Amino acid sequence: MRFANLNGRATIVTDSGLIDLATASNGAFSASTDKCISQLDKIVQWYETFSPEVTDTTTPQDLIGNSALGQVVSAPSQIFAIGLNYQHHADEMGLAYPNQPMVFTKFQSALCAPNAELPVPTDTTDWEAELVVVFGKAGRDIAAEDAFDFVAGYAVGQDYSERTLQMAGSPAQFSLGKSFRNFAPIGPWLTTADEITNPNDLRIGSSVNGEVMQDSSTDDMVFTIPELVAYVSSITEIRAGDLMFTGSPHGVGQGLTPQRFLKPGDVIETTIEGLGTIRNTAVRG
Ligand code: ZN
Repeated sequence: MRFANLNGRATIVTDSGLIDLATASNGAFSASTDKCISQLDKIVQWYETFSPEVTDTTTPQDLIGNSALGQVVSAPSQIFAIGLNYQHHADEMGLAYPNQPMVFTKFQSALCAPNAELPVPTDTTDWEAELVVVFGKAGRDIAAEDAFDFVAGYAVGQDYSERTLQMAGSPAQFSLGKSFRNFAPIGPWLTTADEITNPNDLRIGSSVNGEVMQDSSTDDMVFTIPELVAYVSSITEIRAGDLMFTGSPHGVGQGLTPQRFLKPGDVIETTIEGLGTIRNTAVRG
């Protein structure tokens, strides 16, 4: 099931149109996507049992770039992000594969709607297509084999990165350089976990002004999603609504020769197989 925030209301996006969740369920489920995150298994069950009719024939394709889409999670208690988690990306950055997950945060105020504008703060702002895990329940010390029990679903994300600030100092610190305004779009909707057989086998890519920059697979991850969940939850509690950006494949601007970065007017599209496309237009920051 595709679960979206459309004009601030929880909405199911089907191939043939849209269903307003609160209306179709006679209020059994909330209109707030945040309130639904921990109940998505029940919502999927309800949807499959009752097959409610679409009330609007807007299709998933119609929603690409649409500003009516909002964040499915508005205020996660934590946003985990994983650095250097694709082998070919570590290669292009000239860095060794980490021997344990390299974890930082994108601060919550960077989170934004899937198709939000991207204010570009400097001339070294880069793109990073990422698979985002949305957690549906709390847990600590989660075993890798149980990790998927805690996942509500998946979304497409961008880990926009201001490389100069990211790499300033020694050791470098990533979190601020990846937390400027609108540096964390997610969407276009949450695809519930039951739809994705193996999140570590999805094509993932991005383009700038229609030119393909990243085209890879989530099977290139150094640490798989279950391994990341096990590692992070061995230290911190994971909570319903929390997000995890799971790293970016190769093809970022910093890895190109010559290097290439974003400028106002650029249109960045990010797509993951089965999860949809988000589109951001860079504007002056
Ligand atoms: Zn990243």
